[in-house]
Amino acid sequence: MTTQHDPSLWEMSLANFHQAADKLHLDEGLRQVFETTKRELTVHFPVRMANGDVEVFTGYRVHHNMARGPAKGGIRYHPDVTLDQVRALAMLMTWKCAVVGIPFGGSAGGVVCDPKRMTPREVQHLTRRYTTEIETMLGSDRDIPAPDLNTTPQVMAWVMDTYSMHKGYTVTGVVTGKPESIGGSRLRSEATGLGVRMVIEETARHLKMKLKGARVLVQGFGNVGMGVATQLNDLGCNVIAVSDSKGGAFNPRGINLRKIAQHKADSGSVVAFRGAERVTNAELLEIPCDILIPAALERQITAQNAPNINPKILVEAANGPTTPEADHILRKNGVLVIPDILANAGGVTVSYFEWVQDLQSFFWDDKEITARLRGMLKHALADVLALSKKQKTDLRTAALMLALDRVAQATTLRGIYP
Ligand code: NAD
Repeated sequence: MTTQHDPSLWEMSLANFHQAADKLHLDEGLRQVFETTKRELTVHFPVRMANGDVEVFTGYRVHHNMARGPAKGGIRYHPDVTLDQVRALAMLMTWKCAVVGIPFGGSAGGVVCDPKRMTPREVQHLTRRYTTEIETMLGSDRDIPAPDLNTTPQVMAWVMDTYSMHKGYTVTGVVTGKPESIGGSRLRSEATGLGVRMVIEETARHLKMKLKGARVLVQGFGNVGMGVATQLNDLGCNVIAVSDSKGGAFNPRGINLRKIAQHKADSGSVVAFRGAERVTNAELLEIPCDILIPAALERQITAQNAPNINPKILVEAANGPTTPEADHILRKNGVLVIPDILANAGGVTVSYFEWVQDLQSFFWDDKEITARLRGMLKHALADVLALSKKQKTDLRTAALMLALDRVAQATTLRGIYP
């Protein structure tokens, strides 16, 4: 979908950052601090594969900013991982944590690999060795990883175990998104989807938009996409198409999510689901709908396809799915874009709850987590809507301005060391 002329995720993140920084009249020194990452580690490490061969992998861990607290960010396993992409994801995490007001900075990590072509044992060995290589960056008071593309609660359990083995005692708070039996939080695995649902509910209330029967498209049917689709289905929306890396399934009368999830579990994809028409990922994005939810990769909505994309609201469950040029076109066409740093912040918010619970060794029930999550997201959305009205700007710029201002305040109050 992207062309040679489309900006990279890092270029997109910088462009969005500068737009908000200009509007805020951000101090030049702070601008320099924020447009660079704090530290970056590249590692190359060997893994013995199932056939006995040794393969060398490349991985990264980047801390963007830690002015407001320890860094927090996902680990991604994907063949297209690059240092630039990880930098951008780390920067997005700094802003995301600041928008929802949780006391973390931003980080991200990734390994260039294709876990779909690896055995579970190979993924385990890769995870343990990668964790060892980046261990100096990690710690429950330093940098706390979480799941992202192709990384699961099981992967987080291996990260936690490897780190704990080296320390000589169990450190549950070094990672979030773990299984519950080893210090994971209730609702963490569905948190991102649940957060997207809450943001949509609040936005619909604000717009006086009816959600019952609203036509929904979801691109990406993984942890986040499947969660969002299920949550919106429970709300009474009509999920008419979903997709994964192999393609999509479309039925204007609605998709049976339980059945398609089973079909994906059996066949490895949502494609060729009986009772739905086959569509490509490019076609899916252009199907008329009320709510479009990109929940797969970055840079899916570009200057090329944006003119044909016309939902009432576009909710960025994925990180960086919309290029700045596309953003501009969508705005002109009256599409309300709820930016990633707000839309998918439910994941990191419940990760924060998990970290707090781990540090206290005291665990909360679903009711407490749901209420706290709703409260924080409602508050963040209200702040962003108010600022966007006051500044006469779009929600992405308003969310970034809010975040930048909070990180700038922290940096200024702490002062520049020494
Ligand atoms: P995942 O690996 O669980 O799922 C990704 C899904 O996207 C899969 O269904 C995959 O088949 C599909 N996909 C891959 N390439 C595609 C393509 N070219 N077109 C359409 N679909 C494609 O990953 P996830 O954790 O659900 O993450 C999805 C997005 O959400 C990423 O942008 C990630 O950074 C973001 N995100 C994740 C979390 C989290 O808690 N996991 C939190 C916030 C944001």
